Amino acid sequence: MSGKLKVGVVGATGMVGQRFVSLLADHPWFDVVSVSASERSAGKKYSDTVADRWAMPVPVPGHIGSMTVEDASKVEQIGGKVDFVFCAVDMPKDQTRELEERYARAETPVVSNNSAHRWTPDVPMLIPEINDAHLAVIDSQRKRLGTSNGFIAVKPNCSIQSYVPALHALREFTPEKVFVCTYQAISGAGKTFKDWPEMVDNVIPYIGGEEEKSEKEPLKVWGSIKGAKIVPATSPAITSQCIRVPASDGHLAAVFVGFQKRPAKERILELWKSYRGRPQELGLPSAPNPFLHYFEEDNRPQTRLDRDFEKGMGVTLGRLREDLLLDWRFVCLSHNTLRGAAGGAVLMAELLQAEGYLKAR
Ligand code: NAP
Repeated sequence: MSGKLKVGVVGATGMVGQRFVSLLADHPWFDVVSVSASERSAGKKYSDTVADRWAMPVPVPGHIGSMTVEDASKVEQIGGKVDFVFCAVDMPKDQTRELEERYARAETPVVSNNSAHRWTPDVPMLIPEINDAHLAVIDSQRKRLGTSNGFIAVKPNCSIQSYVPALHALREFTPEKVFVCTYQAISGAGKTFKDWPEMVDNVIPYIGGEEEKSEKEPLKVWGSIKGAKIVPATSPAITSQCIRVPASDGHLAAVFVGFQKRPAKERILELWKSYRGRPQELGLPSAPNPFLHYFEEDNRPQTRLDRDFEKGMGVTLGRLREDLLLDWRFVCLSHNTLRGAAGGAVLMAELLQAEGYLKAR
């Protein structure tokens, strides 16, 4: 195990926490040495705590299953044995914000799945292939927190992770107007069909808070560092409708886009095919290669067939055609609990280590 960073999973018993545990069981750079959750689970064996709610397609990893779950509020105790933590807790926002800040102030970096710090101006909100340059704001955040090592970095909402990469690859044509309709899987609500039978043969045209996130979060991702903070971009204008559909995993989006300069279809396809971000340049262990894949078939991407493209870390695209109101329309798909949650956070941590922000203590 020598040479690997020691990591803690805070909220390890939950849906996203379980995904972290599965992804990290055999990770080449990170070694799970602590699993923690609420005081309800603290003191119990991990495999016992998750026995009746394990939702992953692989069994509980043996060496993690035998660990004792710690109380996530014991920041000093956990911080003393890890180099950084992944955090995915279901707590009121102010309490999550406070818990994450306590870890950071105790010099334990936090790579977070929670939304609590997404709008803290000096906290980078990363899609690693797009805005790796925002990592530079961590220096300002450390000054504010009074730390030399501790900081918080977050990932954006799962709903934006297909169309933001697709549009980013076309940024030289300046997207100005975007209409997007997302068709989101039930695991995004932390559910399976077993515990949400009302979703079988059903569509629900409402996901609380999701449209606001889908419209605003891309602007922070496309923002720029000014002084000690990230200032969100002011365009494109995005309007969205977010709809829950009866799929277990995978968020599909139908996108309509108008550009300042209208690109030709061949150029769009070329840019999607050749797009590479920093994770691909660095050859990070969880980086999909390619990141974007366009299907020529009219009936792709499909949620069930294509969500696992590049181990659930790639984005698939299809149906690019002219639009009657704007310039172009297309569909795109990403895996919400892999790319959109734990997988995206693991890739972010790999980038943070490669760029020197995460170190052994
Ligand atoms: P979840 O399945 O309900 O799990 C919640 C976790 O938080 C459990 O480990 C729970 O521990 C822990 N927890 C609850 N109260 C706590 C407390 N007071 N102190 C410490 N730990 C506490 O939730 P989830 O779906 O994994 O979501 C976790 C976070 O990720 C949320 O912020 C969510 O918005 C975000 N997220 C979820 C998804 C998704 O696809 N589900 C995607 C992106 C982001 P116990 O088991 O001890 O109760």
